[in-house]
Amino acid sequence: MADTFDEQCDYLFKAVLVGDSGVGKSNLLSRFAKDEFLLDSKPTIGVEFAYRNIRVKDKLIKAQIWDTAGQERFRAITSSYYRGALGAILVYDITRKSTFGNVKKWLHELREFGGEDMVVVLVGNKSDLVQSREVEKEEAKGLAETERLCFMETSAMQNLNVEQAFLQMITKIHDITSQKML
Ligand code: GDP
Repeated sequence: MADTFDEQCDYLFKAVLVGDSGVGKSNLLSRFAKDEFLLDSKPTIGVEFAYRNIRVKDKLIKAQIWDTAGQERFRAITSSYYRGALGAILVYDITRKSTFGNVKKWLHELREFGGEDMVVVLVGNKSDLVQSREVEKEEAKGLAETERLCFMETSAMQNLNVEQAFLQMITKIHDITSQKML
């Protein structure tokens, strides 16, 4: 059956969420797609992607965002997860240094499977937990600059900067895609 939005939308983008287990990927996606916070009720291998229709500048965009749905625990993410993705939200947890330490590993994987041109937004999640902070903002900013990534701290719990992080990625993909079409 024809999806009326697909007929009307200007672009359909695929983007992926990556990062260590427990950093908040599912909750970020849930916030962005449905504006709600999941309270430890995560489907193990459940919903693997969510859609959100969004207007960027004069274009109607359908963003299809893929979530690892727990598979990163078993290192079972395959190249098909990344195939066709134009952007990624690479998440670490500001209260767990080890998750920041693994950012380079995720970046390497993104570039290997998704290509060098992928738009990547580095996201330090759980910014509400200030007292447990283990990763300084400046350090993450520095890494983002070196690796040419966008950067933002978010709180899925308090709904801080979540919309902005996804919008930044989608807008950048939109700009690159429209330039290529000129
Ligand atoms: P995932 O494994 O990366 O998909 O992480 P989840 O989205 O399942 O979140 C892991 C845990 O972190 C859950 O207990 C969430 O309730 C919690 N969590 C996620 N985002 C935040 C946040 O922004 N702040 C706080 N305090 N907890 C969060």
